[in-house]
Amino acid sequence: MKKLAILGSTGSIGTQCLDIIRENREKYSVSALTCGSNTDLLEQQIKEFCPEIAVTESEEDALNLSKKYKDTEFFWGKKGLIEAASSECHMVMNALVGMRGLEPTYHAIKAGKDIALANKETLVAGGQIIMQAVNDNGVRMLPVDSEHSAIFQCLEGNRGRNIRKILLTASGGPFRGYTADKLEMVTLKQALKHPNWSMGKKITIDSATMMNKGLEVIEARWLFDVDADHIEILVHPQSILHSAVEFEDGSVIGQMGVPDMRIPISFAMAYPKRQKSSEPGPDFFGKASCLTFEKPDPEVFRCIKIAYEAIKAGGTYPAVMNAANEVLVGLFLDGRIRFTQISSTIEKILDVHKAEYNIELEDILEADKRARTETFRLVDL
Ligand code: NDP
Ligand code: MG
Repeated sequence: MKKLAILGSTGSIGTQCLDIIRENREKYSVSALTCGSNTDLLEQQIKEFCPEIAVTESEEDALNLSKKYKDTEFFWGKKGLIEAASSECHMVMNALVGMRGLEPTYHAIKAGKDIALANKETLVAGGQIIMQAVNDNGVRMLPVDSEHSAIFQCLEGNRGRNIRKILLTASGGPFRGYTADKLEMVTLKQALKHPNWSMGKKITIDSATMMNKGLEVIEARWLFDVDADHIEILVHPQSILHSAVEFEDGSVIGQMGVPDMRIPISFAMAYPKRQKSSEPGPDFFGKASCLTFEKPDPEVFRCIKIAYEAIKAGGTYPAVMNAANEVLVGLFLDGRIRFTQISSTIEKILDVHKAEYNIELEDILEADKRARTETFRLVDL
């Protein structure tokens, strides 16, 4: 039996991970579950999966729940997430959203746990430190992000072979084909409507700005140790080819499937095996009239350009970009800034950032904190 700690169990990825456990009871048990503020859902999950540890964002929620569930130990806040990440288990599924995922990932690796990583912000902000820790501690880092799961699968049996490039596919989001002028006018409601995937709000907005693809370029750079120059974004609106790898002999190997996150989640959970799915097989060859590919326009979707520049500049640049993006996406979701202020403000923040290199985890946390303050100051609401 594989024992899992699920960080962010009340979110889109977290609940889908629990769906898979529900279907495979004989294979998995749960050591820890964590939520932010959705304690109602956490309670249901505690009743169903009986974790040894449960974590809430606030102390008050943790203390209240601890009176009701005597077999579970309750923790809260950042310390609680680290406690869950280091709990007695084989694998930590990190389905938290945002930079708060970084420290629990780091501690889980240090505690010798394999990681199933949905929380891409972990690698965007701290990729070098995290991958170094993965190597030092001999644990597995299994991507959950669909594109990275695809690339991982394309590389199976091909490790050590020379790669010409990684083809990272993107749906293009709800504003595919828009001009820069048209983007100025878009609303929150439009931005929240993703054409192919149903996901948490932050990643849905990241998909609309295409920062999500920028974050994924950085994620791929660290996961597969490939320079950003060798990672190419391909807009593929049908979301059937989940990414591909071109090898030095010109062969391109890709991974396809219906757009359903349970496939990459299940792949990471079961690795090195594959898990039987109860869903019907894909019928896209019969249904889809064509698969199309086009290049994105980084002058319109400026977040793509920003992310490439940030990873090439290195040091604290990606962490600062990520922090500014998190703050700005939050402000956009609250209806306090316009859509295009997300990219324009990140550009301003990075322009004045004085990067640090040879960094430790603490330097990343400090850069993140300062970038958040600076972003609020710049937006000046
Ligand atoms: P959701 O917003 O749906 O879920 C986020 C989880 O994090 C929830 O459990 C939430 O708890 C918890 N959380 C939020 N704030 C806090 C906090 N302050 N303290 C503790 N926990 C908190 O996000 P997604 O599941 O969509 O995404 C999770 C990660 O996976 C992201 O990094 C995303 O980029 C990545 N990803 C997601 C995909 C998807 O299809 N959803 C696809 C590929 C990658 P609560 O709800 O209780 O507040
Ligand atoms: Mg993705």
